[in-house]
Amino acid sequence: MKYYVTTPIYYVNAKPHIGSAYPTIAADVLARWHKIKGDDTFFLTGVAEHGTKIANSAEATGQAPQSFVDTNSEYFKTAWETLGIQYDDFIRTTESRHAAAVTNFFKKLKESGQLYEAEYAGLYCVGHEAFIKESELDEHGNCPDHGQPPEKTKEKNWFFKLSEYGDFLQEKITSGQLQIEPVERKNEVLSFIEQGLEDIAISRRTAKFALPLPWDASQTIYVWLDELFNYCSAIGYGKDEAKFNKWWPADVHIVGKDIIKFHCVIWPALLEAIGEKLPKKVFAHGFFTIDGQKISKSLGNAIDPVELSQEYGSDAIRYFLLRDIPFGKDGDFSPERLKERYNADLANGLGNLVSRTLNMIERFTPELDPDLPVASSTLVQKLLYEAGILTENLDFSSALENIWQALGVADKWIEDNKPWELAKQNKTKEIEGTLAGIFSILVAVNNQIAPFLPETHAKLTKLLEARPIKKPQEPLFARKS
Ligand SMILES: [Zn+2]
Repeated sequence: MKYYVTTPIYYVNAKPHIGSAYPTIAADVLARWHKIKGDDTFFLTGVAEHGTKIANSAEATGQAPQSFVDTNSEYFKTAWETLGIQYDDFIRTTESRHAAAVTNFFKKLKESGQLYEAEYAGLYCVGHEAFIKESELDEHGNCPDHGQPPEKTKEKNWFFKLSEYGDFLQEKITSGQLQIEPVERKNEVLSFIEQGLEDIAISRRTAKFALPLPWDASQTIYVWLDELFNYCSAIGYGKDEAKFNKWWPADVHIVGKDIIKFHCVIWPALLEAIGEKLPKKVFAHGFFTIDGQKISKSLGNAIDPVELSQEYGSDAIRYFLLRDIPFGKDGDFSPERLKERYNADLANGLGNLVSRTLNMIERFTPELDPDLPVASSTLVQKLLYEAGILTENLDFSSALENIWQALGVADKWIEDNKPWELAKQNKTKEIEGTLAGIFSILVAVNNQIAPFLPETHAKLTKLLEARPIKKPQEPLFARKS
């Protein structure tokens, strides 16, 4: 089976923050899970580098746009490396492979007869890189998300007949051919479609640092469509047909809930217009506040995932983000709770169980052959089997909960059987039975945590594979502060 997973591509005018780390970690876990399962897997992430917003940010720092994006895209690569993210490709929209694919895409779109030229008057928010309605502005006439007035534009643009795709989209979504999750988001998209779709401008006259429209030099390609096409350009659209046909359609686009209309309405309609298949699933994650406050630029930078992972280790950040907030729901990121969970679940939970178990084996039964088959716990088997299914369905929080419940079974096993008491009574067989059983839970849990906690998995694998078994020389989790 092939599996193709994507993240949103992030604007390089801001440094990577906890909000962009979140879907990237989720996609990484999913990709690792499918790779472990044996699926032929492709994990794409990248950055959005075109548009007026980027050009303005570059100008503010006194750099040319290209050198600005060259520098800033590296921050993302470094951050993802620090967080243990193993993507298969990293697309930048200023790459020539992307521009060539987008040009092909727009030529196809023109040939489809779905475009026309018209005069358009509207309000454009540069922060959004999107048109905004008068009714959406705040009492000062500003975009409520960006605190800036939109630009009044009146220009001739090329339009796409999105209004003709309502029935098509409704059918694809209700039949499940295009899955939208969670269900709240699916309902949101369906009700948006029911209100009637309007045609959309696909080009702009005044945009800075954007790709030219292939047949009209006075126009540039609307950046959002340029960006959406990254999912196809990265896998060789118009250039490497075998590669494209191997990976397309995407099995899941992971996106933020704020960009759901682009991914569940505009994107599938454009794909249909050029005769390509629709993605199988769009999964929208929720947003989180930080200590109850909306993430602002300054707050977002205060919670730097790279800095946090230098203190706690990247696995702890991966664990916390996916464990604490159910994927798809809104939540709150609290540094205090990160610390609590780190101590309770990782250092004192998994870390402690590993060191206790291996220590007891070394002391009480150094001859133990852990490779002998043992009677395994059916409860643990059930919990871990379900954890796999939950991971596959992007319910990461429940998957981790199941895995930690399995650790609880091992803890209880120790408490109920007290190997140290058995040792006093020289009950060798009972000690061996207990410790081999607990050891087998650790092996099974170690397999399940591999996609979530890759560093811990590597360390634990070494400990569990060493013969004879010895107690760890250093703790599995050690916080540097
Ligand atoms: Zn805005």
